Amino acid sequence: MSNTTTRFPRPPVLFCDFDGTITLSDNIVAVMKHFNPPGWENIVQQILNETKSIRQGVGEMFSLLPSSMKEEVTSYILNSAGIRDGFAELLEWCKKNDVPFYVTSGGIDFFVYPLLEPFGIPADHIYCNGSDFSGERIEIVWPHACDSECDNGGCGMCKTAVIRRFPSDRFYRILIGDSVTDFAGAKLVDLVFSRSHLTVKCQELGLPHIPFETFHDIIKRLDQGGADS
Ligand SMILES: [Mg+2]
Ligand SMILES: [Zn+2]
Repeated sequence: MSNTTTRFPRPPVLFCDFDGTITLSDNIVAVMKHFNPPGWENIVQQILNETKSIRQGVGEMFSLLPSSMKEEVTSYILNSAGIRDGFAELLEWCKKNDVPFYVTSGGIDFFVYPLLEPFGIPADHIYCNGSDFSGERIEIVWPHACDSECDNGGCGMCKTAVIRRFPSDRFYRILIGDSVTDFAGAKLVDLVFSRSHLTVKCQELGLPHIPFETFHDIIKRLDQGGADS
């Protein structure tokens, strides 16, 4: 193992959010803003203030859109989403240092996979929700729902279930994220790289976190062993 990773108390593993973290903005919110189906803003507010579960809220928002809009919605996201600076370099860093990298996304397969396609991340390292366009309205499906140990309930894609597969006594668990889908996971891990709502949440809860803007910032801190100084 390289010098870099021996700076950590245990071998590090990275869990990285997708929307608003790998991409510059939240794709679900961007779609809702753009197509503006009546009622979506209320649902987003309820998710953000945690009065509605992510699973229920995301399901409800997409059910506001007819399945016939599949191509329109997909191409809107694929054409408008931008990738945050330094993402390819972070993946390179992980490869070089033998650090496992997982995408743990509350986003949906029809945009997560195509946007990640250029980066060559193995499919079994990408967790996200699914979609079904066979009915009248867009239906979100949940192949990675909460396990019995998740006390959050209704995560949709349960990040804590993925994180728990890497026991804390054997791994130095690092979460990278920006918002409400990362709150539950942030309470479990050793270190959080945070943006936006997640930074505020970490401050409120007193969780160890390092605010970041680009993945270059994260690489720099990982090279120093991650710990907050
Ligand atoms: Mg996010
Ligand atoms: Zn859960």
